[in-house]
Amino acid sequence: MVLKEILSKAQHTGNLSKEELVFLLTRTADEASAILALANSVRREYVGQAVYLRGLVEFSNICTGNCTYCGLRRENGNVHRYRMPEAEIIETAVKIAENGIGTVVLQSGEDPYFTADRMVSIIKNIKKHTGGAVTLSIGERPFDDYKAMREAGADRFLLRHETANPNLYTRLHPGKSLKERVRCLADLRTLGYQVGTGCMVGLPGQTAEDLADDLLFIRSIDADMVGIGPFIPSPDTPLGNVPGGSVDAALRMVALARIVTRDAHIPATTAVGSIDESGREKALMAGANIVMPNYTPLKYRVDYKIYPNKQCINEDPEIYLENRIESIGRRIGKGPGHSLKGAFRKTNT
Ligand code: SF4
Repeated sequence: MVLKEILSKAQHTGNLSKEELVFLLTRTADEASAILALANSVRREYVGQAVYLRGLVEFSNICTGNCTYCGLRRENGNVHRYRMPEAEIIETAVKIAENGIGTVVLQSGEDPYFTADRMVSIIKNIKKHTGGAVTLSIGERPFDDYKAMREAGADRFLLRHETANPNLYTRLHPGKSLKERVRCLADLRTLGYQVGTGCMVGLPGQTAEDLADDLLFIRSIDADMVGIGPFIPSPDTPLGNVPGGSVDAALRMVALARIVTRDAHIPATTAVGSIDESGREKALMAGANIVMPNYTPLKYRVDYKIYPNKQCINEDPEIYLENRIESIGRRIGKGPGHSLKGAFRKTNT
């Protein structure tokens, strides 16, 4: 295979084969710069110069899950656990809207306290008081829960598949299966959510073939949003002492996600920024078009540690926005920044 020919194909179509994706994933760092540059031009053509903001509220760090990479796993006794009261969640969402951000992202561990009824109340209140879009990132739930939350007005749902390798998935998520995660994603699609998925890069035992399968999976479900970040080992977890993923590998996956999806919304993730000071800007120049400033009140934010040294722990979201996005020649998108995929295009502003 010849790099130039595959890049030429990638410029015209996202329909790359697994072999072609593996080839691109295994090029040298020098060659990878051409892949990132191509992704940046595909981004410019399909989603433009706007960087859409999503205001993040991490409203509970309590989790029944036990994922082997995550600092919030239930068996980690060294976490100070919290739940934000409903009124404070809504107050934070209103602050996000007042700052001109058109989407509130509600993220938590898999916390059974936040039943469908409680989530419905929160979603309805946020929709009433902000008029903006609501994205949920609260893990696996039964179909009827997803349905009730969608009917309450939730617009989008983020549920990363983490890895499309079923054996690796089960090693990372004891007691869970990739099949069940795929079922959740299919339910969310059926219910009319804008659906986000994505993966980690640099997991122990993960191969270039696995990463190519991640990209093929993302393309196969026509993901509206794609979150990709490096694996970062977290202390007090079973994977705390294994080497983490690199920024370069994560950026290459961001670039390939842009190339295969063309117009998905792709965040410059906090994880990329956490292991490289300018990682988020690099991601924005490699195909990403979304930033998720963290509005979780500081008193809680310090305890939402999926991994250590999270970049945004002490970050003031407004200062971040002012100083960084325009410095790379981009502009902040207005409105909710809905999916650009066919089914949702009409609702995008
Ligand atoms: S990754 Fe999510 S579900 Fe797994 S332990 Fe962490 S917060 Fe819980």
